Amino acid sequence: MRTLSTFILLIILVLAYLPAPKAQEINLRKQSKMRECGTTATAEDFEIAMARIKQMRKNRELNLEAQALDPPTDAPYYIPLSIHIVRNSQRNGGLALSALYRAMEDLNRIWQPVGVQFFIYGEIDYINDTAHYYLPGGDSDAEKAARDALRQVNPVGHTINVYITNIAGLNGESTRSTRRIQGVLMNIKVMGAVDDPATKDDNEYNPSTFAHEIGHYFDLFHTHETDRGVECPNGSNCAEAGDLICDTPADPDLNDKADQACVYDKSAMTPAGCSGTYNPPTRNIMSYSGRPCRDQFTPDQIKVILYCLRNQRPNLITKGARYVDPLASPSNEDCTYNSPCQLIRKAVEVAQDGDFIFIKPAYNHVSKSSPLSGKTVTLMRWGTSGEVNITN
Ligand SMILES: [Zn+2]
Repeated sequence: MRTLSTFILLIILVLAYLPAPKAQEINLRKQSKMRECGTTATAEDFEIAMARIKQMRKNRELNLEAQALDPPTDAPYYIPLSIHIVRNSQRNGGLALSALYRAMEDLNRIWQPVGVQFFIYGEIDYINDTAHYYLPGGDSDAEKAARDALRQVNPVGHTINVYITNIAGLNGESTRSTRRIQGVLMNIKVMGAVDDPATKDDNEYNPSTFAHEIGHYFDLFHTHETDRGVECPNGSNCAEAGDLICDTPADPDLNDKADQACVYDKSAMTPAGCSGTYNPPTRNIMSYSGRPCRDQFTPDQIKVILYCLRNQRPNLITKGARYVDPLASPSNEDCTYNSPCQLIRKAVEVAQDGDFIFIKPAYNHVSKSSPLSGKTVTLMRWGTSGEVNITN
C-alpha cells in the first residue's frame, strides 16, 4: 500500500540575522599575520565598474533607482548559499556546524543594512579529499589553479557556492561576477574551526572576513584599492581612483594601521600629487582594518551591491526563495521577490522541494494545510519585525 506522501513543515521563528552581540566581544589582541584576502581585480573588472557607475548615474537621473536608494532592510532579498565543507580523505577535520551557524549569524548581522540576507540552501555538501583540504594560498598560476579546482567540485547553480577549507596564509578569496569559475573560498580557521596541528596557520575566528568576501562577490573593491591609481585623501579623484566609490574615504590600507579601538594611527603619508590627510574608514567591511572593527557598508557600496545583484547576478534571486505578502495582488503567480504571492498556498504550489518560503508578518497564523502535502519546504519570517505563528 502506498503511504501518504509526507509533508514536512519546518518553522523557524528566530531568523539567523538577529544581532549577535557577542561578536563585538571577540578578542582583539591577535591581529592576523595572514593575508586577509586573495580576491583580485582585472582591468576588465574596472572597465565594468566604471560602466556600471555611469549606468547607475543615468538611472538616478531617470529616477529608476528608488529601490537601491532605499534599501529594503525590513523586506530583504534572501540569497541561497550552497555550503561545501571540506574534510580530509578520512572524513576528519571539517568545520563544525555550530561554527558555521555562528558565521552565518555574523554574516547576516553585517549585511542586514544592505537589504540582503543569506540562507543555507539544501544539505551541507561534505567533500572528503585531502588534496582539497590543504590548499595553497599564493598567487602563482598553479596555486590559483588548485583553488579553482576546488571551486569546481559539486557547485550548485543559481546559488553562492562557499567552500570552507584550509588555505595556507590566506583568510579567504572570492570571485567577482566576471570570473568563469565562481565560488567563495573561506579559511576554516577564520570560520571558527579549532586548531589543526597539521596546519601552521596562526588564526582564529573573526566575524567579518566572510562578509568581506561576499562583498567582493557583489563586485566591491577594497577601500584601499590602487590598481586604478591612489585615491587622494581629499577625495578629489574618488570617481576614477581607489575603489571608484566616493563615499568611502581614501584608505592607505589599514592593515596594522588601526588599533584595538578601531582608531587609525595616522602613520600614512599624503601620496605624491595629492593633498589632505587621511581619515580612513576603519569600520568599513571592505577595508583591512581590525577584523572585529569591520561592520559597515556605505550607501554607495550598497548601491553597487544591489545593482550587481539585480543586473549581473539576477539568478541568485530566482533560486530557492519564494515570497508571500498578504498585501500583494492576488493575481501574482510566481511568488518572487518583485512579485510576491498573497497566499502561502500559492507559494507552496510553485515551490520546489527544498525551497524556503518567506512570509510577511501580517500573517500571524499559518495553518498546516493539505496543499503542503508532498512538498518539503521551510517557512520563514520575511523581514525583521513581527512574528508568524504556526498552528496545527
Ligand atoms: Zn578582500
